[in-house]
Order: sequence, then C-alpha cells, then structure tokens
Amino acid sequence: MSGALPFLSLKEYFLRKYGKRVQKVTVALPFTCPNRDGTKAVGGCTFCYDGSKPSLLSPTVPLKTQIAQGIERAKRKYGEDILFFVYYQSYTNTYADLDTLKEVYDTALEFEGVVGIDVGTRPDCAPEEVLDLLSSYAERGLEVWIEFGLQSANFETLKRINRAHGVSDFVDAVLRASKRPLKICAHVIIGLPHETREDVIETAKLIASLPIDGIKIHPLHVIKHTQMAKEFLEGRFKLLSLEEYAKLCADFIEILPANVVVHRVTGEVDEKLLIAPDYCSPKNKNKTLQAVVNELKRRGTYQGYNTTALNRHMETVRKGF
Ligand code: SF4
Repeated sequence: MSGALPFLSLKEYFLRKYGKRVQKVTVALPFTCPNRDGTKAVGGCTFCYDGSKPSLLSPTVPLKTQIAQGIERAKRKYGEDILFFVYYQSYTNTYADLDTLKEVYDTALEFEGVVGIDVGTRPDCAPEEVLDLLSSYAERGLEVWIEFGLQSANFETLKRINRAHGVSDFVDAVLRASKRPLKICAHVIIGLPHETREDVIETAKLIASLPIDGIKIHPLHVIKHTQMAKEFLEGRFKLLSLEEYAKLCADFIEILPANVVVHRVTGEVDEKLLIAPDYCSPKNKNKTLQAVVNELKRRGTYQGYNTTALNRHMETVRKGF
C-alpha cells in the first residue's frame, strides 16, 4: 500500500518498479468497436460517446505524431527524467487485423523511454492470436497491460447498458490472458442505473476472485449525445452524490486484494460534454479522489481490508477441520 494513500495507486506501483515517474501517453487510433459497427450490436454502450476518446485527441493525426507530442507535453510538465507507457485508449484497440495491430504497437517501440504499452479493449475482442502478439512485446522486455471493460458483474445491467457481452466473456478473457506474460486491468463503473450496493459488492468480489492485476473504477457520469443522457434527462435513473460514490468505492477497494494496482477511482469528462455529476468535471478530479481517500481513512480501512478478514476467517475454518 502506498505511503499516503490507503490503496496501491498506479503512480506508486510505477515508482516502486522503475524508481521514477512513468507517464502514460494516450493515443487515439482510427478504429471502431464491434458494439457500434453491427458485428455485436449497434449504437454502442449507452454511456459511451465517441469511443470514450479524450476530446483533445484526434485519430486523424498520425500515430507517431501523437506519441511524439504526448512525450513532449509530459517532459515539459514533469521534466526529462521520466519514462513512458503508450496507452491505446479509445474504442477497441485489438479490433483490426494482426498486421495493422502489429504496426500500431510497433510504433511505440520507436520512442526512447517507452517501457510499456497499455491496450484498452473489450473482453470479447481478445482472440488467442492477439494475446500472442501482445505477449511477444512482453517477451521482448516491455511491460504490457491489457484493459478489459466489464463495468458490472450483473448481466441484467450489462444488457441494460447495451454492452453486448456477458460476464462469462470477461472471465474467459481474463483467464486466457492470465496464462501469458500480460498484466490485466479491469474497468468497472459504480452507480450504473438501478444497481444496488449488493451489485457493487458482487462486482468487487468477482474482480477479487480472478487473476487481475489492476482496476479502473469510474463513477457513472452522463455525457451529452448518448443514450444514457436521454434516459437521465427523462428521469429514468439517478446519479450518486459524491458522498454516496465515495462510500461505494471504499467498499469496493476494501474487497480488492492488496496487490491489485488501482489505476484510477475518478472519471473526468470535458465540461462541454458532461451533463452530470459535477464531480466528474476535470476541475474536481482531486476532490473526488480525496473523498474516496477520506472515506477509507474515516473507517480506518484500506485496500484488502475485507479480503484479509475473509482470508483470516478461512484460515480459522481450515484449522478447525
Ligand atoms: S465497447 Fe467501448 S468503444 Fe465500444 S461502445 Fe462500449 S465503451 Fe464505447
């Protein structure tokens, strides 16, 4: 667990591993996703706008330029003595033929200081040949993360938000990826329409039970031009207050094993696109993070607190037999 935070942050994990700051350079590829092009479904996930692409990035800018500009921006902000991960974030970054994928991942290797790649995808878009390709970079010394969106362990929720994959797809992808030298990160959303605290706990328990190395926890936020915006504006569900989110996020973190790297507990959207909640605007990122940290500190708990309690209980049970 990190010194100041009651959970293992990505920043702390990188510091321990590389002895210096590691900065993610986020890029956007001209890809789409099977949940939009009709292969699995059309319309995409109800919360998704533009493949969750940061508004500053454009897939029409050549990949090399995006990486070079990202590295320059990071050096201006944090100085020369830093390392980089190239983060393929928007849409489904394994959804292309192998030659195209190899070309885009290879591009990261051309830059000095790049120690890893991070590839965001869907759990139903990780065939063996793509996992083999990603593993080939790990075998050459790069740290390779693959990020699978789950969002919730409740299948009814997955149907409601039009994910067009099941919980079983996620479990299958994680188990197959875990047999390779890859690090696995899961994405979840807290506060999805009609979910209860029990749903959040169930999702946390599923994550804790699988060979997962990292987690991104997002508070649900509503973005303009999405199906979810329509449902929200019609009053069909409510969003969590920051206090409610912090409590559920703390519940989640307490269940996570202590070695799972917490990549983020916030979610920010350009104010021009964000409908609500206000705590998901970029200016409130630290306030949201602090609310989660304060909730854990107020309880006197930390990442792994409940996993540890469960393990202690199981140990006692085992000794009893
Ligand atoms: S799978 Fe990803 S890119 Fe595709 S619609 Fe859903 S969130 Fe957007």
